[in-house]
Amino acid sequence: MFRSLQLLATAALLASGAAYAAEAGPALPDYPADQVASHTYVIHGPIGYPNAENQGFINNPAFVLTDGGVVVVDPGSSLQTGEMVLRQIRKVTQQPIIAILNTHVHGDHWLGNHAFRNADPQVPIYGHPQMIAAIDQGAGTMWVDNMERFTEGATRGTEVRAPNRAVKDGDEIQLGGTTFRFIHPGPAHTNNDLMIYLPQEEVLFLADNVCNRRIVRMDDGTFRGSVAAIDVALTLPAKVWIPGHGKTGDAQIAHAYRDYLDSLYKTVGQHYEEGLSDFEMKPLVATELERFATWPGFDDELGKHVSLALLEYEAASFE
Ligand SMILES: [Zn+2]
Repeated sequence: MFRSLQLLATAALLASGAAYAAEAGPALPDYPADQVASHTYVIHGPIGYPNAENQGFINNPAFVLTDGGVVVVDPGSSLQTGEMVLRQIRKVTQQPIIAILNTHVHGDHWLGNHAFRNADPQVPIYGHPQMIAAIDQGAGTMWVDNMERFTEGATRGTEVRAPNRAVKDGDEIQLGGTTFRFIHPGPAHTNNDLMIYLPQEEVLFLADNVCNRRIVRMDDGTFRGSVAAIDVALTLPAKVWIPGHGKTGDAQIAHAYRDYLDSLYKTVGQHYEEGLSDFEMKPLVATELERFATWPGFDDELGKHVSLALLEYEAASFE
């Protein structure tokens, strides 16, 4: 009798645990969609790292109105962010969603795919082949878990919906009569970044290769690769430049971010040649790059960026 009660209690606990785990996090409040070009809108996310307060929403989800329907770029960090993006789209148009484009594997950009697949299980999702491979190897579930932890459960209920259409450097596709050109000069912020150029709109999506007055993690990136990718971006005649994080602007935002990455790498290289270790050069680099000190993320990331740039510089000196 005692034993069966105990079993019952265990079963009840397990059942309530399962119910708790299945319960989705709260809805995200609405953020405005800013029209940045004749058919292009951006929902500029809050600046910061994913946390309980922003519910993980920190990127720049966007949507493009075409003659055939709506194309969504990077629908955010969670099921809830994706649902919020869909609500903003519906304030502008009732046209069907015809495609989702993902710029890279970092979860703050694409976990919102889930909301769009819930609305239409057939909607195609485009991404770089190396993004698809990374998700196959577990990056998606890692991001779902991380995001839920960073936000103290606000993103609960989010599931992995990976891209199912691979696009690579130079590919150009027509979606609803609008041209989307994909640009991936090589590893930059990650090994799977896609910048996206829309010639008719004169719009360029920069992925996290460029952020506007915001320093982001480079743990999966390369400084030289990022500078090379930005140099390719700067050859395009775009008028509207949409960064991965921070406000939309013009080519100036790419020049400024390139200046940060290039100056950091060169300064670190110079101090390496002088024989300094990373902890010795950190305060010097902080002073030499003082003009970027007001950018959010500078204090958090500079130490890591110095270490990463040093490793990259050392490796490059053996090439
Ligand atoms: Zn990123």
